Formats: sequence, C-alpha cells, structure tokens
Amino acid sequence: MRTQRPLSRPAVEPVKRRVLRYTILAGDISIVVTRKRIRHMHLRVHPPDGRVTISAPFSIRPEVVDAFASTRLQWIRRQQHRVQKQTRETPTRFVSGETHYVWGRRYELSVVERDGRPGVVLDDRTLTLFVHPGSDPVRRAAVMYSWHKSILNETLPPLIRTWEQRLNVRLQGYYLRRMKTRWGTCNCRTKHIRLNTELVTKPSHLLDYVVAHEMVHLIVPNHGPRFIGLMNEHYPFWREARAELNQSQRRRHAAPAVR
Ligand SMILES: [Zn+2]
Repeated sequence: MRTQRPLSRPAVEPVKRRVLRYTILAGDISIVVTRKRIRHMHLRVHPPDGRVTISAPFSIRPEVVDAFASTRLQWIRRQQHRVQKQTRETPTRFVSGETHYVWGRRYELSVVERDGRPGVVLDDRTLTLFVHPGSDPVRRAAVMYSWHKSILNETLPPLIRTWEQRLNVRLQGYYLRRMKTRWGTCNCRTKHIRLNTELVTKPSHLLDYVVAHEMVHLIVPNHGPRFIGLMNEHYPFWREARAELNQSQRRRHAAPAVR
C-alpha cells in the first residue's frame, strides 16, 4: 500500500541577512557589488553623481559579474552622462525635500526658519537646516558650508595624525576650500595640504584616500614610480578610490554663485 509521502521540506535555515559588498573596477569605472539573496542581477547608475552598483545573487560567480560589468561599459557611460547632466542643470536651492549627501549617505533636507542660531542638525534620515526667516539660497548655502567645515575640522586632525605616523612625516597644517577642479593639493615646501570641502559629501574612505595622497606628496612631490609604490604600500585600493572620486561629479550644491 502506498502511503502519501509528506512533502519534503528543506531544513529550516535560520534567516540570516547575509550581504557581501565589495568594489570592482570595470575599465575606469568603479562599481560597488552587493551579493545578496535575490534572484537576478541588477545594474544601476544612480543620480546625482552616476555612482554604479550591481546587486547579484550568491549563485552567480564573481567572474560572471565582472564580465557582465565590462560588457555594459558603454551603457554605463551613457547613463552616467545623462544623470550628471541632469544634476548639473538642477541647481541646489536649499529647500525642504532636496537630497543632500553627508559621508556618501543620502539625506532629505528639511529647512526650518526660526530666529536664533542658524545651523544644521543631522539625524537618521533628515538633514535639518535652521535658518533665519526669509533667508535666501546664498545665505542657506553659507550655513551648510560652515557646517561642512566643522565636520571636517573634527574628522581631519585624528586622520592626519594617523597618516603622519604611518608615513613618518609631519604636516604643518591644512586648509579647507571650495575647489572646482581639485580634491586636494599639497604644498610640500610649507608642508600644508588643502582639501576640497565637498569631500564631506562623499563616502569617508575617499577623504582618507585624498589625505593619504596629499601626504605622500610630502615624501615624493610628483606622481612617479616612487609615489605609486608608496600608495600601493599604504593605500592598496587607491585606484578604486580615485575612480570612485573622479566619476562622482562634483555637485555644486554648496555653492550657488555668490554675487
Ligand atoms: Zn598628487
């Protein structure tokens, strides 16, 4: 007599939120790959800066993800061009609902007009900008800019100390500037570095990379083989970081032209 077999069930696995994240370089484009429990592979180019991500199921081998990325390079470039153009054409107005970035994380801006001290408060999802009633975008930008500087002034001294010890160098000081074309510069003679305040909107490892780069210039002023050797030694993923930084279009959010 045949008995009805119970439906076999796979052993119940504890639900683990396993996610694996790493960066690959396809051509000169850095792509953040996230492996997780999904069925299909997705490639996305994100506004505002054209950041590229791939999410892939664990079942797809890493080589397949790499190959997939390199066959889609042209498409990625076209998409990046499109979103960056869109971003450039949309000036930041510092109004509620806008997207702003801090350390690479996305926040919604909430503007609160009040008498009292202007300033910025960051919580889990929202970046709240306190301004005087009737303040214009230039004034609002200035409040945001000084907040950016205050974050960098907290972050930089310990970071610089770390790199001084690693590289066995001594920096005299740093300057923060809004720069259009550079992330950082180094004056090896006076032993000062200058950093773009926009770095505060990027993931924090990119600030680390720029500081490392500029401080290695205290040892080697040019970008020759010795410079590259030191970077390989002290910041092995510098190529990925450079690509990530260069493809992230500098958004002009902190700077509506001051007339
Ligand atoms: Zn350099």
